[in-house]
Amino acid sequence: MSNQTILVTGASRGIGAAIARELAAAGYNLALVARSAEPLEKLAAELNNENVTAKAWPGDISDHDTAERIVKEVHKEFGSIFGLVNNAGVTQDGLFMRMSPENWKKPIDINLNGTFYFTRAVAPIMMRQREGRIINISSVIGLTGNAGQANYAASKAGIIALTKSVAKELGGRGVTANVIAPGFIATDMTEDLPEKVRTEMLGRIPLKRFGEGKDVAGVVKFLLSEEASYITAQTLVVDGGMIA
Ligand code: NAP
Repeated sequence: MSNQTILVTGASRGIGAAIARELAAAGYNLALVARSAEPLEKLAAELNNENVTAKAWPGDISDHDTAERIVKEVHKEFGSIFGLVNNAGVTQDGLFMRMSPENWKKPIDINLNGTFYFTRAVAPIMMRQREGRIINISSVIGLTGNAGQANYAASKAGIIALTKSVAKELGGRGVTANVIAPGFIATDMTEDLPEKVRTEMLGRIPLKRFGEGKDVAGVVKFLLSEEASYITAQTLVVDGGMIA
């Protein structure tokens, strides 16, 4: 069992909650971040046991001061931060020709800027420790683009470029940075898609099923493991073969 600490954003539901459950089962201590306090507190209570300490840190990741404060408090509470999983994310879909600057900015502020704020805040801690794992959740849409998702695609492509740059700057201090690009994972984010779109997407997935949170969570666990210590600046696509 590990007693290293991992900070997971967007942990209140969906892929983030699946990551938290997977890592708690592997013995990691957890700092759980999302805006809504109630589901976070509930999850923390579920995951706490004699081997694992899980605590909730409610907050909006698109606020720089909040990110700095949370990382500081988590570091004080646990004494070290081995891993950061930047998972929180939103969509704000709309056709490009009708996209207002406000709609453009929302996924950039949360997905890309939030990832920057948390990565920037943990970097000095990990560099001092001379070890650390940064895992950023992008999307296949960040690699392919998608009609109706120019803002989301740009935010997710930005995460890939940010991660590669961070990997190059921090590698000398024993810190790795990698991206996971999920395909279609069944969560609240994908629940509202019309049946026609779901059927069409399923037809494009060689493994003939939608992904589940645990499909992504298992890869996060691997990237935190000793076996993954020589992997950095990479993007692992977890999509059942969809964009191959
Ligand atoms: P989800 O079910 O909608 O969950 C999103 C999580 O992010 C929630 O915990 C939410 O909590 C948190 N969040 C959103 N905005 C936040 C903010 N400003 N500050 C703090 N937390 C915030 O989404 P999901 O499907 O699990 O997606 C997780 C990640 O995977 C996202 O980055 C998404 O882009 C990516 N992804 C998902 C899929 C998919 O098919 N589902 C595919 C590719 C990539 P609160 O609302 O309480 O803040």
